[in-house]
Amino acid sequence: MTISDRKHILQNNSDNKTEEIKNLKGMIFDIKRFATGDGPGIRGLIFLKGCPLSCKWCANPESQKFRSEIIYYKNNCVGCGKCIKSCQYDAINEDDSFGLVTDQAKCVNCGDCVEACLHDARETVGEEKSIEDLLNLIRKDRSFYDNSGGGITLTGGEPLFQCEFTVELLKAFKRENIHTAIETTGYTSQECLAAAVDYLDLIFYDFKHIDDDKHQEYTGVSNQIIKENLLWLNNNLKEEKIIIRIPYIPGHNSAVETQKRMYKYLKQFDKIKRIEIMPYHRLGAAKYEGLGLDYELKELEPVKKKDLNHFVELGEKIGVKVRIDSK
Ligand code: SF4
Ligand code: SF4
Repeated sequence: MTISDRKHILQNNSDNKTEEIKNLKGMIFDIKRFATGDGPGIRGLIFLKGCPLSCKWCANPESQKFRSEIIYYKNNCVGCGKCIKSCQYDAINEDDSFGLVTDQAKCVNCGDCVEACLHDARETVGEEKSIEDLLNLIRKDRSFYDNSGGGITLTGGEPLFQCEFTVELLKAFKRENIHTAIETTGYTSQECLAAAVDYLDLIFYDFKHIDDDKHQEYTGVSNQIIKENLLWLNNNLKEEKIIIRIPYIPGHNSAVETQKRMYKYLKQFDKIKRIEIMPYHRLGAAKYEGLGLDYELKELEPVKKKDLNHFVELGEKIGVKVRIDSK
């Protein structure tokens, strides 16, 4: 085989690989254009489906399962029953409290009921999109992102749950010189984190509770991996790229003593830019109903940003920078 033959084969292999990557598909449940607050400037937010946690306060319950599913909006429903008739799988049942519930075990996500509903009361959440699809979408708004010093933020769900796809997507954005941020639970393998980190300009890292037993009770998983990954990140980053996000949930992690211990723990990490306290809201409550799920925190009152200002002072005393909310 001549050198030219070898070069030709290598070129073909590399072209095939590039094509393969472009066509790699991820499960996406939302895309928000022109968003602010999740990173600098104006940004495109890409929401990836699938999460290893199930936080009691999750505002995006439709993000948790790694597959598309049907969500039902009871307020739009006029009770015509067209969806029930359209379903060949007998997957829609009437329920006194939820209205029409989709039996996820029977549903094959054919979308017939969504088509049949003339009142926008049913929607398919979650769609496969390729890296090329997402690049094309973001390219359209590129000038807004560039002129504002913005970029893209991957969120979810847990974006690193779809590790291979997310890493290749980040690489693709970096090849186009787009600023990249991620919002992560930190609950992933170190290998995945290591594969992603070089392609990230900013990392929003959730820290939900300092105590492992409480963390397990409220999120369904231990915080050990999250702590280990934070340490690994801190040791391997060259610049301050981490913004810690603490969801402030009354009765769960809201005690001053708990917050104090979290700030003291986080103080050791020198790659943290700041801590953001995210006040509890219940904007996701209707989605639980739409998915036929019970929302345990439905009685919990939303928290006002102005009521948390004392945590900024507490942070100052301890020696960490605390901001309330992301803006
Ligand atoms: S998506 Fe298809 S299978 Fe699922 S509830 Fe609707 S009609 Fe039935
Ligand atoms: S088709 Fe739409 S409006 Fe009619 S019962 Fe089903 S969800 Fe409700």
